[in-house]
Amino acid sequence: MKKFCIFGNPVAHSKSPQMQNAGFKYLNLDASYEKFHLENGDNIKEEFIKNSFSGSNITVPHKEIAFKQADIVRGIAQKIEAVNTYIKEDEKVVAYNTDAPGFLKAIESFGNIKRVLVLGAGGTAKAIALILQEQNIDVVVLNRSKEKLEFFKNNGIKAFSFEDFDFKNEKFDLVVNSTSAGLKDDFLPTSKEILENILSKSSFAFDCIYGKITPFLALAKNLNNRIKDGEDMLLYQGVLAFELFTKTKADNMVIEAMRRGLKGE
Ligand code: NDP
Repeated sequence: MKKFCIFGNPVAHSKSPQMQNAGFKYLNLDASYEKFHLENGDNIKEEFIKNSFSGSNITVPHKEIAFKQADIVRGIAQKIEAVNTYIKEDEKVVAYNTDAPGFLKAIESFGNIKRVLVLGAGGTAKAIALILQEQNIDVVVLNRSKEKLEFFKNNGIKAFSFEDFDFKNEKFDLVVNSTSAGLKDDFLPTSKEILENILSKSSFAFDCIYGKITPFLALAKNLNNRIKDGEDMLLYQGVLAFELFTKTKADNMVIEAMRRGLKGE
């Protein structure tokens, strides 16, 4: 039996096992996927090898250390400098970032997007901003504090703190909340006044947080934006990892099986 896992701290809340195992079951594969609580990420590669995993996902807070330890890093992960997927290939640990293409897949239903405002500058914002840039989509990043803006500027992405941004003269097709405001609280990512100004001119709003209508999404809906939560982003990063794990292309039937798994159905 092939073994897979998700490394995280905390990891108890993760829905990845139920999603990945549903995909394995649907394809009748002799494989299992478990949660792996990893206190300290310094030995992530060693644990991956020692436990004979064929593949793994990596979640908070180990994505950066997993990037540093991988033998080979493929694709956009090289720029993001954080990975969420490991696979074993000829005794080498090969790493990918599927959060970024998972996000792109999740916003596909919005159609032709040309200009995006990303709120937040954490790990998720890096993945989103870089994959949008790769698609030649114009991106601006706004964050509460200034320290994390350097990474974006170094990659040629416009990045400002909320207070330094002239939002009155800017218009975006899509606004993305990649902050954790609204995750465990009822905060907006920034003042209502700024958000109303931006969202009254935009058409689409996406929140990386899933399973709830956050205050950000509620406000966006009120201002006539089409809204979407982060469920599809979580699903598609999982589907893309599943394809790497199984070396198969996931068709719609597999994707729907994984979605049911994710929802615990
Ligand atoms: P990080 O901890 O790396 O970054 C958090 C960001 O949110 C920072 O920019 C921080 O700003 C900002 N922030 C936190 N609290 C507030 C607040 N009250 N008001 C304004 N800004 C705030 O987190 P991640 O990038 O890993 O995750 C961000 C969100 O995305 C989380 O809600 C997470 O659940 C979600 N997510 C969803 C995924 C999916 O598949 N759907 C995948 C990964 C993440 P500052 O720099 O000023 O502290």
